[in-house]
Amino acid sequence: MSNIEQTLSIIKPDAVERNLEEQIKTIFKDNGFVILKEKKLKLEKNEAEQFYKVHETKPFYNDLCEYLSSGTIIVMVLERENAIKYNRDLMGATDPNKAKDGTIRKLFGKSIDKNSVHGSDSPENAKTEIDFFFKN
Ligand code: UDP
Ligand code: MG
Repeated sequence: MSNIEQTLSIIKPDAVERNLEEQIKTIFKDNGFVILKEKKLKLEKNEAEQFYKVHETKPFYNDLCEYLSSGTIIVMVLERENAIKYNRDLMGATDPNKAKDGTIRKLFGKSIDKNSVHGSDSPENAKTEIDFFFKN
């Protein structure tokens, strides 16, 4: 049975800064993703805190929210078969040093915090994250 899903992808500040937007979008398209919606924006710190609320007890939470709100990001709704898991595999491990060859984080990530992309990790979170950016 087909399982067409939508997932939220973010091109993070480190990648936008290095003008990697088109290269990363090309990887998504070459992997069968359709970019249904997209926008370029800069979050306020409190908005980043809300987006990453699941991590609020983690030691890296404050730095993470500072970082996500430090520059321009590109947020996209990506669609394809099994989009959520497929995108997680295509992104690679959180730490680019541990990510497999060919993954986006292996190709472009600089460090565990500046790892170039975000991707939803479950259907529930995909819905919440898509609504966060695209619900009017
Ligand atoms: N992060 C970090 N230090 C860590 C773990 C995570 O700075 O030790 C950052 C990193 O940017 C990561 C984000 O927090 O992408 C969210 O962490 P999560 O565990 O959800 O990783 P992801 O789902 O992005 O792979
Ligand atoms: Mg995560």
